[in-house]
Amino acid sequence: MTPNIQAYEHDIWRIDTAYVADGVAACYLIHSAGQYALVECGTGLSVEPILAALDALGVERDALRYIIPTHVHLDHAGGAGGLMQALPRAELHVHPRGLRHLVDPSKLLAGAMAVYGEDSFKRLNGEILACPQARSFAAEDGTQLDLAGRALHLLDAPGHAKHHLVVWDERSQGFFTGDVFGLGYPQLDINQQTFIVPTTTPVQFDPQAWHQTLSKMAAYAPRYMYLTHYGRVENPAMLSEQLARRLDAHAALGERWADLSEEQLATKLGDALFAEYQDAGGREVREVFDRVLGMDLNLNAQGLLFWQQHKAA
Ligand SMILES: [Zn+2]
Repeated sequence: MTPNIQAYEHDIWRIDTAYVADGVAACYLIHSAGQYALVECGTGLSVEPILAALDALGVERDALRYIIPTHVHLDHAGGAGGLMQALPRAELHVHPRGLRHLVDPSKLLAGAMAVYGEDSFKRLNGEILACPQARSFAAEDGTQLDLAGRALHLLDAPGHAKHHLVVWDERSQGFFTGDVFGLGYPQLDINQQTFIVPTTTPVQFDPQAWHQTLSKMAAYAPRYMYLTHYGRVENPAMLSEQLARRLDAHAALGERWADLSEEQLATKLGDALFAEYQDAGGREVREVFDRVLGMDLNLNAQGLLFWQQHKAA
């Protein structure tokens, strides 16, 4: 298998993590003076393809200095333990609320099985290994990591999850956003513009916190956003407004249709987004749109229903 690697400017590479299919999830390799940081880890099944990509790029295993999953959902952090094992000098830096779940993944596994079901869990995530405590650190809001002179700032970024951080890269003036800047799959680009979609996955969707996080990031006037799903996007200011609007629309649909089934709500979300996509000039037919976003819209519906049920209680 040839690793899927995309080189960007500023010594940054996007590496596909082979999650579900090619082009669904990525991690990012950042370089400075012979040292490397990896943002995102993919799942347990991503460890091999990520290591293969490092080999293809000629990166020595002991040149990996930092491993930074944006949050502990398994398509972002499931591979952390396996990578820590293979990369002997790497330090793990993770949100304080996520650290214990990576050092002891048992609770995380139970939670993920509840969301995905036991059947698809193994197929999706492979084996999830614990991270060694001695090399694992909680990144408080504002933590600055020095990658051989290149500053990486780790900022608390709730909204999608309470255990979410984003990484500000001074050199490229870009944020590695995990899921808190939504999803933007290149297949749905409209005239080379990203069609940005919220990700309201269970179980900690919080629209108010999310808006604050978007404002916090906007204050940096970023030039780029590096989305885990999927790739580097430009025009962050415009996309941030669109994402904020679609978040509110998602939340409103979740409130209005709180008694629907997950599948029915996912269809409502898809209807609303597809109408916006067409209004914006999107040319793909609904079938393609659903194929690209289907899994995400189901998770979005599930997250909105969970949010409503626990808000009411
Ligand atoms: Zn994700």
